[in-house]
Amino acid sequence: MANVDLDKIISLCKRRGFLFQGSEQYGGLQGTWDYGPMGVELKNNVKRAWWRRMVYERDDMEGLDCAIMMNRLVLKYSGHEDTFSDPLVDCRKCKKRFRADHVDPNEKCQEGGVHDFTEPRPFNLMFKTTVGPIADDNNIAYLRPETAQGIFINFKNVLDSTNRKLPFGIAQIGKAYRNEITPKNFIFRVREFEQMEIEYFVKPGADDQAHEKWVSDRFNWYTSLGIKPANLKLYPQKKEELAHYAKATTDILYRFFPDREDETRQFDEVEGVANRTDFDLTCHSKGGKLVLKGGVEIPNEHAINKLNYFDHIDNKHIVPYVIEPSAGVDRTTLAFLMDSYFEEQVKDETRVVLRLHPELSPIKVAVLPLKKNHDGIVNIAKEIKGTLQKSCGWRSVYDDTAGIGKLYRRQDEIGTPFCITVDFTTLEDKTVTVRDRDTMTQERVAIADLPTYLSKRLGNC
Ligand code: ATP
Repeated sequence: MANVDLDKIISLCKRRGFLFQGSEQYGGLQGTWDYGPMGVELKNNVKRAWWRRMVYERDDMEGLDCAIMMNRLVLKYSGHEDTFSDPLVDCRKCKKRFRADHVDPNEKCQEGGVHDFTEPRPFNLMFKTTVGPIADDNNIAYLRPETAQGIFINFKNVLDSTNRKLPFGIAQIGKAYRNEITPKNFIFRVREFEQMEIEYFVKPGADDQAHEKWVSDRFNWYTSLGIKPANLKLYPQKKEELAHYAKATTDILYRFFPDREDETRQFDEVEGVANRTDFDLTCHSKGGKLVLKGGVEIPNEHAINKLNYFDHIDNKHIVPYVIEPSAGVDRTTLAFLMDSYFEEQVKDETRVVLRLHPELSPIKVAVLPLKKNHDGIVNIAKEIKGTLQKSCGWRSVYDDTAGIGKLYRRQDEIGTPFCITVDFTTLEDKTVTVRDRDTMTQERVAIADLPTYLSKRLGNC
């Protein structure tokens, strides 16, 4: 089947409890989404799969979880206060506002003809708030627009408390906030989202190779969890597109918009992997400075520590370079949903199935009684569910709210890899049917063998 478009995913997400519009009960709040019972499991599994591969399965990583509210100075010296903006234009006719670099100049204005835009001006994307009971300029704080800055300002804390040697990285998953001018495309562009970010510190000189390696490691992470390589693209930014501090950036793009005619426009960023050199550690360092685009320098007059590293081999202090793989949790979750969505004809019906990697599936096993009014069958089914959940740790559910055919379809739609059915034969020989989501084949398995049978197929769940 061709790639699925966003509308089908949005409809499935609402129907099956993956995502609801934020504040829906009161008409919504633009740019926010609430993850429902299936969505929270999927999103948690995405984050867990990232943390597992990026932190636990490597020997050169530490984790971190920083506060979302940040001292204004963090975002002053990072450059966000001055430059974290998108170009905004107003239409003089309909009074609506648009992001200048995203707007189609031929778009129709509701007041007739095309829009009549003002000159673009910068609009800062950070959410401002005040901390404490006095709301004046001295108490301004920002909700972080990315998780990265928390990692940079904790570089020394992590280094001193772990005795790490270069190269090593710090990983963080958490919420970020951007007052996007035009949030759109479901959870692709929102105002509250989550990021999974790594800052990987290396000796200057080792940065190019580390950057290349991270690009391929991150690309492989997506494919190892089932994304089709044909739906991913690497886009090395051209020199003129790079942020002024970046030596190189490669974006990892996913085919979020398969219905667009022009193939290159079908792809958009799910993650960026940047070589940021020593820019961030220098701007947050005591005695360091922020260098803005165009060369203006702002000396750091507030930082307490020097953010450097003593290199025992060369016997001197150095400022490490940093490689930053920065992924959005929500965009990644959307990519996994889109890539796993299939519609197929089964007899006269259309079967919708999410062929999610089992590690990502919200539910690993559904236990279904063939007859819901039969105590013997129901008790065994509930017992199996309990054992698989408690002893094996797989997210399992018991469901008897419909006929077996309907229950299978429901589990297919949320991507449950296995359904176990307890029937009359179970009462005689203590076996059950195990149905495979992808092939729909059924196998008779002894209840006692279920943990071994399933663990072979579920793997690292
Ligand atoms: P874009 O160009 O699409 O606005 P960006 O280049 O500003 O994205 P980064 O600052 O590199 O994004 O952030 C890293 C990642 O965080 C992105 O690749 C994306 O997955 C995610 N992200 C950024 N902004 C948003 C948003 N408004 N909604 C959802 N995810 C986002």
